[in-house]
Amino acid sequence: MTSEEQPLTTVRAGEQPLLEVRELVKYFDIKGGFLQRTVAHVKAVDGVSFHIMPGETLGLIGESGSGKSTVARTILRLLPATSGEVFLEGRPVFNASRTELKSMRREMQIIFQDPYGSLNPRMSVGEIVEEGLFVHGIGNPRSREQQVSRLLEVVGLRGQHRGRFPHEFSGGQRQRIGIARALALQPKLMIADEPVSALDVSIQSQILNLLDDLQREFNLTYLFVAHNMAVVEQVSDRIAVMYLGRIVEMAPSEQLYRQPKHPYTSALISAVPIPDPARKGQKVVLKGDIPSPINPPSGCRFHTRCPIAQFPICSSEDPKFEQKEDGHWAACHFAGKGETRVPATGEIQAV
Ligand code: SF4
Repeated sequence: MTSEEQPLTTVRAGEQPLLEVRELVKYFDIKGGFLQRTVAHVKAVDGVSFHIMPGETLGLIGESGSGKSTVARTILRLLPATSGEVFLEGRPVFNASRTELKSMRREMQIIFQDPYGSLNPRMSVGEIVEEGLFVHGIGNPRSREQQVSRLLEVVGLRGQHRGRFPHEFSGGQRQRIGIARALALQPKLMIADEPVSALDVSIQSQILNLLDDLQREFNLTYLFVAHNMAVVEQVSDRIAVMYLGRIVEMAPSEQLYRQPKHPYTSALISAVPIPDPARKGQKVVLKGDIPSPINPPSGCRFHTRCPIAQFPICSSEDPKFEQKEDGHWAACHFAGKGETRVPATGEIQAV
């Protein structure tokens, strides 16, 4: 991909993204044999680029195994990148020294998917939320206690909950504790890694509304990772769709939802339940599972499941990720040519 084709070029002159990700690659080694040598790689993330402007929410969506959570964790250096670059307000994250990284970690926080597993059951809620302040040497015990009470109230809990333990709370309340912990260091960027997937639907909307309120109150920027198109559409300004380690489509949320240019995006959108009997039968069923990232399909990685694949081009030529309209990028040989709309009726089985 040439530099002109990078989605980063959509950044207007004079504007600085809060986060820039350039050609991010993350391979996991597979060891084998007597000497436990590397025999293959799981290509979890294979050349991902995007940016997020201050105050913006970018939704990152894809099926399980598409690499979206690995992108989130690699940005934060919770996993070492194989190659690529990440910049926070222009400062390189991967080359940062220990001290620089500590400071950047204050500015980038993560909300985890599992509100049960992400909180230490042996620590009180107060200790969990205070931990980051303590590690970064912020305030004294009295001011930290006040800050913890304030944060708990901000996320809809009570200051008196400080002394309780995670098992005394419901799933939604635990996720609020996780959000309070992430907020404690007054970050600029919040990476929300499937923050509502483990919650009941009724609780999901409460947490999404809370994240929305917090964004306005604290001027937060979000990278919102999820597999549910309805959730991502609700919270995102722009959406990037990942398939097998790559972004295949990226556009402003409404535009992507109304006029998807990649058949994989069309399939994800069609899976969103619509309470309208007149639109029954528009579901696009993709056959089979996502292929193995150890040996991705040749040509377009989606060709083994694509309902409109044409051969041999789709199985032999890797489509470029190109801007098809202003701010609307897609990687499909037929995107923008009126040929990526899958038929609107009947159940479509991929070939
Ligand atoms: Fe489908 Fe071919 Fe487009 Fe890939 S390039 S999404 S296989 S039509």
